[in-house]
Amino acid sequence: MSGYLRIDGDEHALVHARLVWHLASSQGRPGVVFHVQAEGARTLLHLGAWAPGERVEDLSNQAVPLNNPGPDAAVDGRFIAIGTIRFGRVNAQRAVLSIDAEAEDLDPGSPVRAVLESDVRCHVEARPRRNHCLGCGRPLEDFAETRDEFVGGYRVRERVLPVLCPDCEGRTERPHNCPTCGVAYEAARVHVLADEGVVGWTATCPEGHTFSGALSPVRS
Ligand SMILES: [Zn+2]
Ligand SMILES: [Zn+2]
Repeated sequence: MSGYLRIDGDEHALVHARLVWHLASSQGRPGVVFHVQAEGARTLLHLGAWAPGERVEDLSNQAVPLNNPGPDAAVDGRFIAIGTIRFGRVNAQRAVLSIDAEAEDLDPGSPVRAVLESDVRCHVEARPRRNHCLGCGRPLEDFAETRDEFVGGYRVRERVLPVLCPDCEGRTERPHNCPTCGVAYEAARVHVLADEGVVGWTATCPEGHTFSGALSPVRS
């Protein structure tokens, strides 16, 4: 069991929970961006936020306020309006946290708020590294940009890499190289699903890195 989620007193058991993290600064302070996703049989909680620290273990014993986190924090389709995440012990494999929050009503005009309480035990995963071109495998460091983005109401400075290098941009319809290590994919391990306007794909490289994504179709 991964904990429980209580909404207005109705308790739901959680069967699976994970926390995915990466390092990113906010207003000049080093920190950790984290996304928690917890599922029960008929319930789904997800939230993202930022806390100061230099490694994931630094989340331990922190209380992280949520103030209008927007669509980055929701439970069963209701947005969380205000709340606090309290971490217990966090290490590279496991995290324990509790959430006390108020969630907005499903009807967007309604002033009614639901009381949300949750205790969650998560598996911890670092966000997979992605720094090679999907079309040719070359490193993308030279094309990195820094951008400010909002995560759960926190302004976070992110290093953003393109998916394709300038030479491959507009010429690549399917992935050829692993974005984590740059090694060429074997054709049999690339699954491409074309839909209107996008080409979705999932692939596993010989090193075992699995990635999914979408590419815009090449216009001829
Ligand atoms: Zn390329
Ligand atoms: Zn790889």
